[in-house]
Amino acid sequence: SADLAFEAKSARDYAWYDVSSFLTYRVLRTGELEVRVRFSGFDNRHDEWVNVKTSVRERSIPVEPSECGRVNVGDLLLCFQEREDQALYCDGHVLNIKRGIHDHARCNCVFLVRYELDNTEESLGLERICRRPEE
Ligand SMILES: [Zn+2]
Repeated sequence: SADLAFEAKSARDYAWYDVSSFLTYRVLRTGELEVRVRFSGFDNRHDEWVNVKTSVRERSIPVEPSECGRVNVGDLLLCFQEREDQALYCDGHVLNIKRGIHDHARCNCVFLVRYELDNTEESLGLERICRRPEE
């Protein structure tokens, strides 16, 4: 598809959320560009100004079981982090991969990631990671 979709990082929790629309722009005195975003699934009370350079990017892509080989140690992933009090999509880097034998329908690989936000580590299955689009 030629449609570009975007995600933006909220300053509230440093998690990434899908953008449903860009509302308006502003240029800071520093010359940096900020954009007002409406997050997908949220109303205008959750609109935020975000820095275009650091906090807006093309949407991350769920990894199909048949393409888990594209994920490598060192990669930046968008990870579904589930904790007692919250569940967020946040950035993590792959530290290690335990490759499992599997078919195209089911991936048994385990991806050890370190979250950028707090440097904690967690082992995740494929269903909890999204990869970054090719540059
Ligand atoms: Zn796999």
